[in-house]
Amino acid sequence: MIVITSNTTPEEQIADIVRVIEKEGLQASVSKGADRTVIGLIGQVNPQLAEHLRQMKGVENVVKITKSYKLASRDFHPENTVIKIKGVEIGGDELVVMGGPCAVESPEQIDEIAGLVKAAGGQVLRGGAFKPRTGPYSFQGIGVEGLIMMAEAGQKHGLLTITEVMTPEYVDICAEYADILQVGTRNMQNFDLLRKLGTCGKPVLLKRGFSATYDELLNAAEYILAGGNPDVMLCERGIRTFESYTRNTLDLSAIPVLQQLSHLPVISDPSHGTGRRELVEPMSKASVAAGANGLIIEMHTDPDNSMTGDGVQSLFPDQFAALLKDLEKLAPLVGRTFSTSKAPAEAFKVGV
Ligand code: PEP
Ligand code: MN
Repeated sequence: MIVITSNTTPEEQIADIVRVIEKEGLQASVSKGADRTVIGLIGQVNPQLAEHLRQMKGVENVVKITKSYKLASRDFHPENTVIKIKGVEIGGDELVVMGGPCAVESPEQIDEIAGLVKAAGGQVLRGGAFKPRTGPYSFQGIGVEGLIMMAEAGQKHGLLTITEVMTPEYVDICAEYADILQVGTRNMQNFDLLRKLGTCGKPVLLKRGFSATYDELLNAAEYILAGGNPDVMLCERGIRTFESYTRNTLDLSAIPVLQQLSHLPVISDPSHGTGRRELVEPMSKASVAAGANGLIIEMHTDPDNSMTGDGVQSLFPDQFAALLKDLEKLAPLVGRTFSTSKAPAEAFKVGV
């Protein structure tokens, strides 16, 4: 249930409404917008309480919400969530590009790629230190050392960093070194991990499970939000369909649908979404045209020798740079800003 008040409703009246809700043992989530303030109720609402709230001063309407997720829904939070990290805003007007290898392989590799991501105009360095591999004998990532290498490369080149965390035990160490924690497709419903991320103090990029519905993705996000972490972004990374030409089918509809259902930023991953290098450029552009708030793209200096199998979907550095140049022209057409000429690393606020 949500209680709608106008933007002229005084603070004291909103506080009164919150008090009444909390007295009933329910949680109140207040979202202030330009036109109205929405107070979401979490918990079982009895009809008497609903009626009492309806009669209260400053209340314009009381509406029943039937969706199973609350905090993730736009009904509860009409305004877009804008996640601010060291001067980068995700979910606002700015298009955010995250680029880098599938896996961190060595200090030299991540340093060189970070320099290329920065030079091309990207804002975030991606790279996995813990890799969720389908087979147990495949390279599993270099672990904590990889986190350190990536943090150093991010600092040096003035980039935020994003890395995948697979288990609750590793959340704290990943949060210590990375700016954004990624939940991979295979872990979208690892509920213990999601709960732990609710208290990790860092923004989370939650990838859609490869066979998950929008509703399941938003409920997974709800676990993190309900744990107290408001900084969640959703990521469409392709789903499994009958088509085998592409590794997955990038569901472009997910971008506008998730933005209608939710206030959380939506990021598209055309690398895992297609599994084919030559499709990354058109699907990146299509994602931006569909309204994506950002892209996460694999790029490697030597994709043929990458330590995971994802070299086939990794862009070469010149392709990455050319794509970002095109995005600079495309972004304004869909109401986004993006510039490939960023401030030099020392002027960028990373590390402050
Ligand atoms: C990745 O980003 O390298 C990755 C493993 O992604 P996903 O979970 O989407 O497969
Ligand atoms: Mn990968």
